Amino acid sequence: CGIIGIVGNRPVADRLVDGLKRMEYRGYDSAGVCTLHDGELVRRRAEGKLNNLVEELERADAPGTTGIAHTRWATHGAPVTKNAHPHATPAVALVHNGIIENFKELRDELRAEGRSFESETDTETVVHLISREIEKGSLPQEAVKNVLPRLRGAFALAIAFRDYPDMLIGARLGSPLVVGQGEGEMYLGSDALALAPLTQQIAYLEEGDWVVITNDTAIVRDVEGNEVEREFRNSGASA
Ligand code: GLU
Repeated sequence: CGIIGIVGNRPVADRLVDGLKRMEYRGYDSAGVCTLHDGELVRRRAEGKLNNLVEELERADAPGTTGIAHTRWATHGAPVTKNAHPHATPAVALVHNGIIENFKELRDELRAEGRSFESETDTETVVHLISREIEKGSLPQEAVKNVLPRLRGAFALAIAFRDYPDMLIGARLGSPLVVGQGEGEMYLGSDALALAPLTQQIAYLEEGDWVVITNDTAIVRDVEGNEVEREFRNSGASA
């Protein structure tokens, strides 16, 4: 439902949660964050109100200067913690807005290879597809480029890679996603409003676009993998 991602130059967990709070108006049933720290994906999730996630983070923090976060509005799978995003393998974590319509056939294919699923969501198929490519030795960019054409339905995605702690990849088709540019930081968000306290400099991704962000670059490609220009403009959204 709500997505935020930060490649930052200082800790991100609190700011990710603040971004989620700004998207509460959309409605949600659970929430979660994942940060990159010490060569691992650190994931915290909770069902119900954002306050439950805040309490979870008080019990066990999520250090790191890069991370992704999500408020979920369930379409597939009960509104419980195990179905909350981010979904993850040891190597890849992601958050997703929308619906993967062909998830059953994708899940069958992945299960046939011995992969096991820990949630009932359509989303978890995407993380396994990307992780499978990474485990075969692909770079994150190649993995995402290969997997996106396999997805039917609607998605906005923010994806984190354990072995690439200074970058995130975003993608959109049928569900909005924006890139925000800060001072030595770069952001992903499902809307400009969520990013307003961080930046007003926003680039709107177009249908089929995917983007690799680092703290000072944002390289956008179209469906075919050609680099495209998506200009940063002042969103006018107020913090
Ligand atoms: N279809 C996904 C799920 O049920 C994402 C829902 C959303 O957009 O929040 O987990």
